[in-house]
Amino acid sequence: MTTSHRSGLPRLTRRIFTDLRIWMVGLGLCTGLAFPFLAVLLGVPRARVITPGFFAATLGAGLFVSALNHGLARTVVGTRVRDVAAAMRRVEDTLRAMTARGEVGGCDPETCLVPVDSDDELGEVAGAFNALVDALARSHTADAMTRRLGEVLAAHQELEPLARAFLAELTDATGLPAAALLVRRGHDLEIAAATGLTDADTLVVSAPVRRVERELAAVEVRLPTDVVLDAAAVRFRPRTVIVLPASMRGVLIGVLVLAAPTEIGTDLRRDVERVLPTLAVALNNAVSFERLQQVAACDPLTGCYNRRFGLRRLTEEFERAVRSGEPLGVLLFDLDHFKTVNDVHGHQVGDRVLQAAARATRRVLRDGDVLMRYGGEEFVAVLPGAGPRDLLELGERLRRAVADTAVPDGHDLVHITVSVGAAAFPSSGVGNVDDLLRVADEAMYRAKTAGRDQLALAASS
Ligand code: GH3
Ligand code: MG
Ligand code: MG
Repeated sequence: MTTSHRSGLPRLTRRIFTDLRIWMVGLGLCTGLAFPFLAVLLGVPRARVITPGFFAATLGAGLFVSALNHGLARTVVGTRVRDVAAAMRRVEDTLRAMTARGEVGGCDPETCLVPVDSDDELGEVAGAFNALVDALARSHTADAMTRRLGEVLAAHQELEPLARAFLAELTDATGLPAAALLVRRGHDLEIAAATGLTDADTLVVSAPVRRVERELAAVEVRLPTDVVLDAAAVRFRPRTVIVLPASMRGVLIGVLVLAAPTEIGTDLRRDVERVLPTLAVALNNAVSFERLQQVAACDPLTGCYNRRFGLRRLTEEFERAVRSGEPLGVLLFDLDHFKTVNDVHGHQVGDRVLQAAARATRRVLRDGDVLMRYGGEEFVAVLPGAGPRDLLELGERLRRAVADTAVPDGHDLVHITVSVGAAAFPSSGVGNVDDLLRVADEAMYRAKTAGRDQLALAASS
């Protein structure tokens, strides 16, 4: 870009054509005055040219030519200057209208730029104006992206939806085909969301991510076109991978990975980097929120869901079962003669027995099953997809797993058993979660009265 510099004749007024007129009149007068003396030098007799009449004629001719020149300059230059100014004003109107509609980013050359149709100072002015418009549009686009990403980050509290929405907005705004967001939960980085990557999990252990984790500084990897990225399989052959740290007060909170089949421009990278502090705060909040929720949802003694959150999860699973038509099973079980355990071995051993029973149960359950502490020594396992047949099998495995558990109390071993009531949805008379729990509870009491350490299936299942 050129810098402004002053040169040429001094300015006389605030109007360029008035200056020009003054200079031209001055020049015309000087020429008119000098012409008779020039004629003498060229050999014309003095008596013929050094006369008031000849002076008047040459001065008049000088003034006439200067007026003619001024008129020409006004027409040739003035018209073009006015054209450029009018074009700039049209661009200004268009930009104002587009700003009002929030559109400036994608401004097309037809409407947003002044035509550069001359190879001179006016062309330079038009070019500089276009460069200015372009820089403004870019900064507007960058601001709009930062604002939208900020809005997305503020709109989500939970980590996974937040990460997914952030990446969707980021890839949409930047046009990048692949990105991933890693977050630090406890000590380790985990993948929170990824897009365009087929094997994002391997990113966590990749060398560039490890380096960012160590050094808290961005890492850019440029790959030769014939190299396939070994850190993550992508659906295209990446050329540039940028790994950026999102940190707060020197502590790494997350890592943002960007990948593209072309180079990632410095402007784009800078725009994304501007969002990192907000991203770090949002990720930190989401992780804290998750931890808080875990604390609020967990029974501190056994680590199971507490009754309140467990029932909420059961309700969600019930609604899903109603929608999908998939069965839903519950196993409601109660420790047998637990009062006696407390009476004989003490409350602390009783607590350890409860923990051991929960541990044994969890070993039997599958991913996606939910275990809640329903009451003092009463638990409910929620088994999505389990029909009566699965319930009988899983319930029996559960009963046996607890029966095989023994908790040491000094030299003694405390053995425990459970009575299990099983109920499934859909089944007759079960229209909601309360019905399902009621029939499971009735089955559990049947197991109790039939001698304990056994399983009973609800009659309706
Ligand atoms: P049943 O076989 O009929 O279920 O007999 P039970 O003795 O297990 O039943 P009961 O309802 O009489 O006793 C339950 C006991 O569980 C009483 C209560 O003190 C104990 N309990 C409830 N919550 C806890 C707890 O968190 N820790 C301990 N150690 N005991 C608990
Ligand atoms: Mg009991
Ligand atoms: Mg009980």
